[in-house]
Amino acid sequence: MGLHCPVCGKRAHIRTSRPLSDVVTEQYYACLNPKCRTVFVGLVEVSRIVGESLLPTDVQAEFSKQIRRSRRATERPQEADPRQMPLTGIPAPAS
Ligand SMILES: [Zn+2]
Repeated sequence: MGLHCPVCGKRAHIRTSRPLSDVVTEQYYACLNPKCRTVFVGLVEVSRIVGESLLPTDVQAEFSKQIRRSRRATERPQEADPRQMPLTGIPAPAS
């Protein structure tokens, strides 16, 4: 992952980073353009969870419960539709 240099627009790579909080990291970038080589700082923040963790909730980090969930992440599997027959246990058709 990288950003584009704010001076020349070419790609920049992360040289180092440090956490500012549980969800925010400060990243130091260096421009890859040998004629530019600007060094700049960017921030990365976890803004929301879009796919729920498979970990049990009792072992998930406490602060993660404060992070906004996308609707997709909060959707629960729907109950089985009683009008549909289950696909498991049906023998394969004879060939
Ligand atoms: Zn640059």
